[in-house]
This record gives sequence, structure tokens and C-alpha cells, in this order.
Amino acid sequence: MTDQPTPMMAQYLAIREANPGALLFYRMGDFYEMFFDDAVAAAAALDIALTRRGTHQGQPIPMCGVPVHAAESYLLTLIRKGFRVAIAEQMEDPAEARKRGSKSVVARDVVRLVTPGTLTEESLLEARRHNFLAAYATVRDDAALAWVDISTGTLRVMNCPSSRLAPELARIAPRELLAVEGSGLDDLATDQGSVLTELPAASFDSAAAARRLAALFRVETLDGFGSFSRAELAAMGALAAYLDMTQKAQMPLIRPPLREDAQGAMQIDAATRRNLELTQALSGGREGSLLAAIDRSVTAAGARLLERRISAPSRDMGVIRARHDAVGWLLADTGLTARLREALARVPDMDRAVSRLALERGGPRDLSAIRAGLTQGLAVAALLGDDAPPLLAEAVGALSGHEALIDLLDDALVAEPPLLARDGGFTASGFDADLDETRRLRDEGRGVIAQMQADYVARSGVGSLKIKHNNVLGYFIETTATHAEKMLAPPLSQIFIHRQTTANQIRFTTVELSELETRILNARDRALEIERGIFARLRDAVLAQAGPVGQAARALAEIDLAAALGDLAAEQDWTRPVIDDSRAFLIEGGRHPVVEAALRRKSQSFVANDCALTEGETPAIWLLTGPNMAGKSTFLRQNALIAILAQAGSFVPATRAHLGLVSQLFSRVGAADDLARGRSTFMVEMVETAAILNQADDRALVILDEIGRGTATWDGLSIAWAVMEHLHAVNRCRALFATHYHELTALAARLDGVENATVAVREWEGDVIFLHEVIRGAADRSYGVQVARLAGLPDAAVARARDILTSLESGEREGAARPAAIIDDLPLFRAAPPAPAPARTAPSPVDDRLREIQPDSLSPREALDLIYELKGLT
Ligand code: ADP
Repeated sequence: MTDQPTPMMAQYLAIREANPGALLFYRMGDFYEMFFDDAVAAAAALDIALTRRGTHQGQPIPMCGVPVHAAESYLLTLIRKGFRVAIAEQMEDPAEARKRGSKSVVARDVVRLVTPGTLTEESLLEARRHNFLAAYATVRDDAALAWVDISTGTLRVMNCPSSRLAPELARIAPRELLAVEGSGLDDLATDQGSVLTELPAASFDSAAAARRLAALFRVETLDGFGSFSRAELAAMGALAAYLDMTQKAQMPLIRPPLREDAQGAMQIDAATRRNLELTQALSGGREGSLLAAIDRSVTAAGARLLERRISAPSRDMGVIRARHDAVGWLLADTGLTARLREALARVPDMDRAVSRLALERGGPRDLSAIRAGLTQGLAVAALLGDDAPPLLAEAVGALSGHEALIDLLDDALVAEPPLLARDGGFTASGFDADLDETRRLRDEGRGVIAQMQADYVARSGVGSLKIKHNNVLGYFIETTATHAEKMLAPPLSQIFIHRQTTANQIRFTTVELSELETRILNARDRALEIERGIFARLRDAVLAQAGPVGQAARALAEIDLAAALGDLAAEQDWTRPVIDDSRAFLIEGGRHPVVEAALRRKSQSFVANDCALTEGETPAIWLLTGPNMAGKSTFLRQNALIAILAQAGSFVPATRAHLGLVSQLFSRVGAADDLARGRSTFMVEMVETAAILNQADDRALVILDEIGRGTATWDGLSIAWAVMEHLHAVNRCRALFATHYHELTALAARLDGVENATVAVREWEGDVIFLHEVIRGAADRSYGVQVARLAGLPDAAVARARDILTSLESGEREGAARPAAIIDDLPLFRAAPPAPAPARTAPSPVDDRLREIQPDSLSPREALDLIYELKGLT
């Protein structure tokens, strides 16, 4: 017998085939069902039961399902685990299908492909982070990167040669990266924590791109947005093609593209971002990052803006100073800042609300979010007043002019509307006369039912008679079964029509009740229909203002961020940095915000330190020596973080700071094996160092920690030496160079512009005490042995290390040639601390007896006996 698929299975298989590469959520009533391999994979990923349904080609079909109302949380799990999900909905009422014949299947189609880069549901997104989808396109010698956040409508594009791709991806941190098939970008994407999606070359076609983009923006030509290179068009076109594919008919509202200029931002490479833990700690989470330590914003949009600023500090002096002006102005009036923050805290996420409305995934709450945001915007603008500095004044400007929309939403919506438009109930009374009238009919009907019940009680003489409602019967009359006889006999049976008898109850209807029910239902349906119309009208009104609403949202984010940075600066005692075009790097009393916060939690205080790098009079490079654990890395990083904070527009953790604009920031700190890519620690270190020496210009700031550590001493020292000279002579940049090679301190004397500095320690009763204070001069010694002791190395090993060190040091002083020779002269290692050797004595009877024993052959009983025996021998 051939095993023909059922019509439904045939439909399933057709949809399945049209949507490769994604799990198919196939809507069946209140469930999304999955079949075959999808079911097996999803059941394992979601930890839900795998069942079977029917057979296909003689084999049972594996199946699993998730209820529609809880689908979002399952989707989230699947997306986090790297799946994509195609959602096939029922496109018609099952009754329609039945009309076509008993074998007809409900029409179904995929309405959306859910992927990591195309999420819009509030529950699937992190409120305080962007969710970017990026596309990388190359057209001949040209390459470009474009990225979009469909949950906020932001689209940006930049020229991006392949050498800049890694750092730009590190900055943008997209959830999903689109590239052409066979791009070979897998490793790069994985490194940046993005999912790579490869598309056919046709998706990147630059000619088709212009058409796709014009459709996306609903314009005739793209000329109004500026001119774009073919690669830029191809990258944006791929985004449009992918949105078309994943969002199907319902395209998101995307704002016109903004071109980013690589020259506009401080360039920070991927390794430096990671090492400095700007937005993510090395451990992976946000906790422990610079961002987490300084984020005081009270709105989600403010938090996203801070993340963008920290990821791309500006190189534009005017922009930076305007941001500092705003922070400083707010800082000067902490009362005002507190009131502002209180008002801002009530501002909802307008960007995401608008985007959901545009995608027809929005509800009444999204409308009320716009109302609340714009209304709070007026309050915020009033608080800021007229004499705010330009950045804030401009923001105030964007907050006015929304009165008409606010009034409309205010009149139309109840105070606390429900989440879904479907069930109605969000329209305020008085907004629509027709709706009010229909609602009155509906509600009156309910009043009439109470009267009817009283009437029926009187007529039947059954005091416990009730009129009730359920979903199966609609309205019905109910008495207890004890009244059955009376109710079912004339004259009452002429009025009460029997419908149902249950164990204890008997149920009736009446002509009058059915008529009333129809009236109530009609009124209810009519009311819902009117409200659906109102919702569509309000949504269109909001979308017609999407541009200005978006500007208001950005203005509020800008104000929130300035107020948050002001609050931070006031509380942490941060100062306004002086920024100019010089090459100065002068920090007094600098601190590391993350380490300081961690120490504060342990009630310890941070030791502030100065740093002075400049060309001319003062040196541009500091060579920092000092024992491990003294605070070298902390010092290096804190200076880099101060530069980032300053150019991001924040005040800085220092008592005074004067910075010449930093164009590029490089770091080589810490060492982590990149085993996944088969690179040793040393190789990673050299690759990163090579990038610095090849790229750093004279405006760069470079921090290098322990270069050359991963190889043999003399190799390492030679490399560190050469790197130092190269930075000094060729790159001519400002640099902090921490090393454990004391030999390098001699360089300071030979090279102008290099100065020694060290982190002070004090020795006390053989232990080191770390003062964490950075002072000029070279470290006298490294105290490695003492640190090892503090770390709990066994006493014997510590003592031995001390002996070796003494020999090596005296060897060096006396000019003895090589460590090997010195080692030959050292006495041998003794595991036990020297103690008088025990005099050898003749073996005791216990010893003799013990020697004879073979423990493996003993039973527990014999072992116990043996212990008694041994005890007897002593
Ligand atoms: P190094 O790089 O010299 O080995 P680190 O910079 O890693 O040392 O610092 C070691 C520890 O010392 C840090 O974890 C921190 O707790 C503490 N520390 C560093 N700098 C300071 C400072 N300026 N004030 C107080 N404690 C500090």
C-alpha cells in the first residue's frame, strides 16, 4: 500500500520545503506544532515531550508542540540556542476551509521568519541594548558595512575595507551578520558573538538594492538620502532583501540611512575593546564592564545611547565639548537634575513602540507609550527652560510640536489600556459617539438580564433560579435539579425551553433570553469593530508622525544621558576634562572606575595616580616596572578608560585631566590563548602587537602590558626592547608600557621622551606591601618571590626560589656568563625543609611485619586483626 500523505501533511511538507534552514512552527488551533526532524531538535532544545502523529512513508511522524499563548518564551530559548524559526499561521477561518469540502485543509503560510537579528517583541529584546542586524558587502575593490535595528528603525552604513571589519563589528556588536555565500566570515562572526547568515549573491546585487531600498523607504529615488557607493548600496540592499524575506509583507519602519564616517570616531580595535571590558566583561556578561559601572540612565533609550557613545567615542572637538557643556550645566544644579531624572524615569521606550506599531505587532499600550513619552517630554522641556546649553536646547526643540498627537491620544485612550487591541476596551468614552452608543446597548443588555432573572424567579416561584453565561451555551437559565419536575411541566414548560441536564442542575432558555443575547452579542461585536477602526486610525496618526516622534525619543535619550553623566560625576567627584588639539595626556588623581567600585564594595579605597605623557618638554612614553599585583595593569587601563570617557562626552574619574584628542586607542594587555583558532598566547600577542606598530599614528594612545612574556627570556626582552624603540621612533605616539624586564629601564636614559615609572611597594618583615602608588623611577626589584609566597607557594619552593635568585643576581653582578653555569653550581633541590637527618636504626618488628603485608589480599576483618597485632608489637 502506498502511504500517501494526508492533505494536511502534504501542505506541511510544501511549506517546509519552501523554508529551508529554519524550524517550522505550524499553527494548528491553539498550538504551533513541529514535525519530523524539527520536532526532534525542538523537543531536545526546549525540553518538551516528543510524541507521534500518524505515519509518513511507513514511519511514525515525530511531533511536538508549544501553546500559542506561551510561544514567545519558547521562541526566545530557540533563538538563544542559535535556531531560526519560520512561523506558519492559519490564513483563514477553519469554517471557510470546511465549506470547500471535507478534505480541504485550512490555508496556511509563513508570515514571518524569526532570527536573532530581526526580533521586535519586547520579551525577546534586551531593553537597554540595541539589537543590530548587519550586512557586509564587497563590490570589486569597495566594501561596506550596513546595520539596522528594526526594533528602533535605526539604519547606518559605512565604507569598510576588510581590514576594518573586525574592529567595526566589535564596536557595533550585531546579533546577526549577513554575508554572501562562501564569505569565510564564520570565525569572525563567532568571535564577535554574532550569528552568520549567508545569502545568495543575488541578495547583494547593487542594482536590485536601489530598487529594494526605494521600496523599503516608500520613495521613488534614493537621491534625497545622499549618494552611496555601490558597496554601500549592496550592503543596505541585502538588509532590505533579508527583511523582506523574514518579515514577509509587513515591512518595518526604517529611518533614512545615516552614513558613519570612520574618521569621526576614536578607532578602537576588537582586542582593545575586549581587554578594556568596555561594554562586556571578559567573563561574558555586562556585569564588571565599564558600561555597567557608569550607567545611571533611567530610560532604555538613554542606556542604548550610552552604549553607543562608549563604543564609539568622538574625535570631533566641537561635539565632545558640547556634550561636556551639557553635563557640566546639569551638574551645577543637582536639584534640577534630580527633578529631570524623576520625569525621565516615566518615559517609555517610544522607538520600540513605534516600530511595533509599524510592523502591526503593536497594541494599545504602544499607543499609550507614545502618549506618555511625548507628555513627559513636555515636562522635561519645561524643566530645562530657555537657557540650557546648545545640545540640551536642541533637544528641547525636538520635544515641542507634538501637542496635536498628544491631544488625540489623550482623548482617545483610557488611562491604562490593555495590551491587545483584539479585546477592545482601550478607547475612552466620549471619543466616538457611535462606540459610546453601542457600548450602552451592550451594557444595558447586561442590566436587562438582572431584571429578567427577577421576573423569572417571580414567575416560577424558584428563588434560586439564576441566569448565567458560559462559552458553550451562551446565556442560560439554571435551577437545581430538585425543581426539575415543576419546571418541565406546564405551565412553566411553555416559557422555559429545556436545554441541558447535568448531575445537579437543569438548564433552560427562553425566546426572550435568546433575543436579548443576540442583541448583546451584536452590540459587543459592533463595539469591537468600531474599536478596531479607532486603533487603526490612531496607529496611522502615530506613524504619520514617526519622524518627529523619533526625534523626540532621541532628544529624551540625549537629555537622560547628560543627566545620568551629571549625576555620576557629582556623586563620584569626577571632573570635566580639557580637550584640545595638542598631544597632551595629563591626568592628576586618576582612578579606575570599575576597580574603584569593586574596592568600595569591600570598604577599601583606591589610590589615585597621576600620568603625564606629552611631546616636547615631558616624555610621551612611560615605561612602568614594578612587581606583579602592584597595580600596573590597573594604571594602564584607567588611563585608556579616561580617554574613552572624555571623548564619549563624560566627565572623568580624576581631579584634573588635559587630553589632546586621541585618534586611535590600542592595547595589548593580558593574554588569552585563542585555542579555537589554533593560536598560542604568544602568537596572539605578536599579532596584536604587529597591528599596533603598523597602524598607530602620532595621535594614538597605546597601552602595552608585559610584551614578550610568552617566549624565552632573551627573546622576550629583545622583542619588548624593539617594540619600545619602534613606538618611540616611528609611531611617535603616547604610550604606557608595563614590563617585568628591568633591563628595559636603561632605555629611558638613551631615548628622549621615555621615562621610567614604577608602582611603589614597601618591604616589611620579608613581605611586600603594595602601596599602589605610581612614582617616577625604576623598580629596584620585582619581589616575585615574595608575591609567590603571598599566593601560597609551598615554603620549600619559596626557599629554593630565593636561593636561585640570590645566585643568579650575584652571578649577574660578577659578570658570570650564563644562567646555565650558575645553575650547575647551585646545590640540589631538597623537597623537605632542611632538618637534622634521622639516624638510621635497625628495622623494628613492626617494620618487618609491615613489609610482609599485601594490603590487596586482606579482608576488612583481617585488616582489623592486623592492627591489633601491630599494636601488640610496639
Ligand atoms: P599588576 O598589573 O601590577 O599585576 P593589577 O593592576 O592587576 O597589578 O592590580 C592588582 C590588584 O591591586 C587589583 O586587583 C586591585 O585590587 C589592586 N589595585 C590596583 N591598583 C590599585 C590602586 N590604585 N588602588 C588600590 N588598589 C589597587
